[in-house]
Amino acid sequence: MSSNAAFLPIRQFSKDILAAVESNDVIVVIGETGSGKTTQLSQILLEAGYGIGGIIAVTQPRRVGAVTVAKRVAEERGEQLGRVVGYAVRFEDCTSGATRIKYLTDGTLLRECLEDPHLQRYSVIILDEAHERSLNTDILFGLLKRLVRNRNAQATTGGSATRLRLVITSATLDGEKFSAYFGNCPVFNVPGRCFPVDIIHTREDQLNDYAAAAVDAVMQIHTSQPEGDILVFLTGQAEIDKAIGKINEAVASLPTGSAGPLVVLPLYASLPPELQVRVFRPAPEGVRRCIVATNVAETSITVEGVVYVVDTGVVKQKNYQPSSGMDSLDVVAISRVQATQRAGRAGRTRPGKCFRLYTRNYYDHKMPNVTAPEIQRTSLVGAVLYLKSLQLGIDVLSFDFLDPPATAALEDALRQLLVLDAIDSDGNVTPMGLRMAGLPLDPALARALLAARELGCFSEMISVAAMLSSEHLFLAGQAPGDLVNPGGSGAHRSFDNPHARASRERLRALLAEGLGDHVLLLRLWEGWDSAGYNKDFARDHGMDLRGLNFARDIRRQLEAVVSPDGSGLDKLGGSRDDRKRSRQDTDEEGGERQASRVGGPDSGRSSRHKPLQLPEAGPGGSMSAQGGRASAAQVDALRRALTIGFANKLARRLPRHNGYKTLNAVSGQLAQIHPSCAPLREDADGLLPEFLVYHELVCTSRPFLRQVCATRAEWVADVLPKIMSSDVRRLSRGTTRGPAGAGEGGTEEPQLPWGGSKAIGGER
Ligand code: ADP
Ligand code: MG
Repeated sequence: MSSNAAFLPIRQFSKDILAAVESNDVIVVIGETGSGKTTQLSQILLEAGYGIGGIIAVTQPRRVGAVTVAKRVAEERGEQLGRVVGYAVRFEDCTSGATRIKYLTDGTLLRECLEDPHLQRYSVIILDEAHERSLNTDILFGLLKRLVRNRNAQATTGGSATRLRLVITSATLDGEKFSAYFGNCPVFNVPGRCFPVDIIHTREDQLNDYAAAAVDAVMQIHTSQPEGDILVFLTGQAEIDKAIGKINEAVASLPTGSAGPLVVLPLYASLPPELQVRVFRPAPEGVRRCIVATNVAETSITVEGVVYVVDTGVVKQKNYQPSSGMDSLDVVAISRVQATQRAGRAGRTRPGKCFRLYTRNYYDHKMPNVTAPEIQRTSLVGAVLYLKSLQLGIDVLSFDFLDPPATAALEDALRQLLVLDAIDSDGNVTPMGLRMAGLPLDPALARALLAARELGCFSEMISVAAMLSSEHLFLAGQAPGDLVNPGGSGAHRSFDNPHARASRERLRALLAEGLGDHVLLLRLWEGWDSAGYNKDFARDHGMDLRGLNFARDIRRQLEAVVSPDGSGLDKLGGSRDDRKRSRQDTDEEGGERQASRVGGPDSGRSSRHKPLQLPEAGPGGSMSAQGGRASAAQVDALRRALTIGFANKLARRLPRHNGYKTLNAVSGQLAQIHPSCAPLREDADGLLPEFLVYHELVCTSRPFLRQVCATRAEWVADVLPKIMSSDVRRLSRGTTRGPAGAGEGGTEEPQLPWGGSKAIGGER
């Protein structure tokens, strides 16, 4: 323990916390952000001997959180990461037999439950950052409540089970709610050491132009307030980068000598870790820092030295509409709980000030009280498949949720799982569903991968799945669609340099295939693979090297979990042996992913994917390599497998029109192809393909399909009967008999609405 850690508030209450843990199965610990919950609780328990009978697990809602905190704790203990202190996240397991403290994402812990339903290897589970109420944490609440009861009942009656203890930690004052849910368990409050914070509201609400108002506020603080760092809350990366540019400009135009130097730093979850840790380094004497952050600075990352907070009153929030299957990322008002939390960030080192860009009246009367938990605003397909595959006879519509999701969202999930053959018409998980749940991919991609295995395009599909799982593949302004619509998908116009122009030409050659994003991603993978994964390939195609490397890691991991002959997949179908390499998580990490450094040997199963070093290919000339280009038949098989996996995400072009309508039993949604998509080949009349597979339906300025692939009417006709059968009432409960016998084709075939595939193909 470093001397600094010894003074963290939570350390002063070690004895009391240990006494509470000793005499209770579940306790709730409330302590303000920075009090040491995440980094110290696990160590306090370890030092008291809780690591002897089992591992101490600490869950984190985000991948980056698990990794950086584990590093920090190992460092505090002067140990090598992966020994006593380790972490496990999707696509990466950095633990060993010696590990006693394990930081892991909540999704990883869920996945471990599939193999070890009693979580025998753990003695204590700390559900950390519970105030964030991530979907996976909410599911864990329900499961662990059951598990603690069962395991401890066994332990006290002298069974072989060891006792399991649960610690729920939160940074906000929602302890009573958690306590009531866990049978009125004790709540332990760690008194904060917060200095008073002056709260200043604006005279008029500035919510409509908050980004500009925030820049003004920073400049005012910098030019008029005594020393102390500034923390500004904005909503996303692009906005943050823009604001930083504006602040730097404004500082540069100040008359010399009117203010001291200002260092402006971004902070958001998808920022590379080496840039993220910059915020932990204090500014040199006489220099003020200004950290422009997303919500990660609200509760999960503590920036020391902040004296001034600028609270814009908004946050970016993902919302899902079960009726249309549409996702939107909306800038919404924060809740009063969040506003209080943000203000508190100003009082950690000395008395501070919080400048709110909204009025007192708005705070009192218009701001929502609390934020809706993620479980109430996201698709539940993965979560419901998960609950079904535990085979505990859980009725998802009446599961003991802390806050239940809307019935419509659960029904939407059940309907989708039926279409994907993951559950049968009685609501039981099928062998197919069990195999899907075992894969570290969302259900649609998992289903597509399993279909690809049948259709002989397995290698192509894992390449596509890996590329899709890696965010930030393309550099800003160089998404495929930007070639045909410069500036179309965003404000970036970076094609005015020779390099960008050359990369545009290279990409253009690939885009000529005209089958959409998935096939383009496959071609890019093939090119990168035959180019021996060199950085020139990334540069020459306008791609982000980090994203490509991450895709390569994911591909390797997927290959290790599932072999093309299906042996790996069959092992995943419910066997519970301890296979460390395949323990993955199900978390939807949004933009939070980053390159992982998974070691492990190349599986070498597919000779086509051995790196092929080309002789003197010249920059980017590798694209013509014959090394491993999928044939037209393989590409067709890939598109067909995608149609099966994404049966819930198909769209049909409107007659004589290039708009689309989604194929959905509930209500079709009109949408356009997003400008960032790879262009599709048009027919002689200038019309786009009649049917598309899409990866996402998102509402930004209006509804858009993102990541599309041209598909064929006959393939759509194969899955259409399932799409149109929509009776979900029987699906919620399932029977307790375990998985149904038939994995595929178990559903009855209703009538085609358009009288068969011919009519579909012929209709314009
Ligand atoms: P909590 O979980 O209660 O919010 P943490 O345990 O995360 O608190 O943090 C405790 C202290 O450790 C804080 O002062 C924080 O700034 C510091 N800290 C956490 N992570 C790091 C890190 N990677 N590097 C330096 N300091 C850190
Ligand atoms: Mg914490």
